[in-house]
Amino acid sequence: MIRIGIDDTDSLEGGCTTYLSSKVIEELPELSLIGEPRLVRLNPNVPWKTRGNGAIALSFKSDSSITDEELLNRILTIVKSDSHPSSQPGVVISRKKLPTELYWKGVRSILSKDKIMPFIEKTTFKGLRGGRGLIGAACAIAWDFKKSDTTYELLAYRKKNKWGTSRNISKDTVNTVSRLDGVFSCMDDDGKISMVPHSPCPVLWGLRGTNSDSLLNGLKYLGPEKAEKSLLFLTNQGSDDHLQETSLSEIEDGICVKLRGKVYSTPYSIQGGHRFFDLIDNNKTITCAAYEPSGDFRIKVDKLVQGDDIVVCGSLSQGTLNLEKFRVLRFENRYVKPPNPLCTKCQARTHSVGKDAGYKCRICSTKISKPPYKSVLPELDTCWYEPPSSARRHLSKPVALMD
Ligand code: ATP
Repeated sequence: MIRIGIDDTDSLEGGCTTYLSSKVIEELPELSLIGEPRLVRLNPNVPWKTRGNGAIALSFKSDSSITDEELLNRILTIVKSDSHPSSQPGVVISRKKLPTELYWKGVRSILSKDKIMPFIEKTTFKGLRGGRGLIGAACAIAWDFKKSDTTYELLAYRKKNKWGTSRNISKDTVNTVSRLDGVFSCMDDDGKISMVPHSPCPVLWGLRGTNSDSLLNGLKYLGPEKAEKSLLFLTNQGSDDHLQETSLSEIEDGICVKLRGKVYSTPYSIQGGHRFFDLIDNNKTITCAAYEPSGDFRIKVDKLVQGDDIVVCGSLSQGTLNLEKFRVLRFENRYVKPPNPLCTKCQARTHSVGKDAGYKCRICSTKISKPPYKSVLPELDTCWYEPPSSARRHLSKPVALMD
């Protein structure tokens, strides 16, 4: 089998490695593709990613009529003409499997070219303009999709004369495909479309799901702008592969974690609508954050109370845990202050005479002691809560897919 990894061909100004990989497939007609091309998302905390830190892996049937060097040169011709000048492309060709350990490092830690060299020294590879893309290219080949949690994404591409113009995909058609079996992350609950990008790249839309037939069926519904071509990718999106199960005492900046702790401070908001609360475990605390783009997810965060025993998923950045989702395992008792009591003599509403000093009737001066706080039910369930799909990371497993 010939495995090809490609990464880092685009920039924020344009391009797309998935599109380039569709051209690689078209330009190698004598080779037979095995399975779907793979779109492999790597560590979402990598500071130099363009958008979703995605790399591509392709597998072809072994073919002795072409050498790896010839193959590399043909792919490099496409990469040179189609990659963005500010990108750092990398192409790796390997007849052997690369160790899965490399994928796990790529999805959970920060690597350097030096660190991946021992894994690719026996392969045929080339990096351009710095070649940082070799990291993603090698990690993408190393993804063992047969032993992994996988989903699909059908990517539709626009005609070249449309690139950079606004996309015309109606809410109605998105609504239709969002109801197809296994489809997820098309639209937020408030109707905002999340499957159509806004960058000047060639992608018209990306339809994600667990059932590839549904996605291919969805192609006919989406519009009115129609795709020039589409390509179905097998992906690690929605796998939570980036999350390390750990504890608060073992965390370090830059990693994505799943851990348990107790809510240690009442959630509060700051200007801009961002929410924060502290979490504690074994005397160690961390501030958890839900930022404004996470929409109504923040309202769920507001319902947490001190003492709730929760599991949180998120990434650690500058000492703050940016929440991707949370779930309450055990609720602390919740109490609310009852209304000021009525006067026992004249039935008028009493007023407080100071902290812990009870209440007094303004009419007859009767004193009444402070009534006990009222126990109330939590306004949350024991299910997972997550931000809307437009604010979710590609690797985050949507709650709809959680066991
Ligand atoms: P897009 O989503 O549009 O494809 P992108 O977000 O994937 O863009 P790239 O242009 O591919 O961004 O840039 C990501 C860069 O980070 C690549 O050079 C890739 O090799 C590198 N990279 C990926 N994972 C890691 C990692 N774990 N450690 C260090 N570098 C990484």
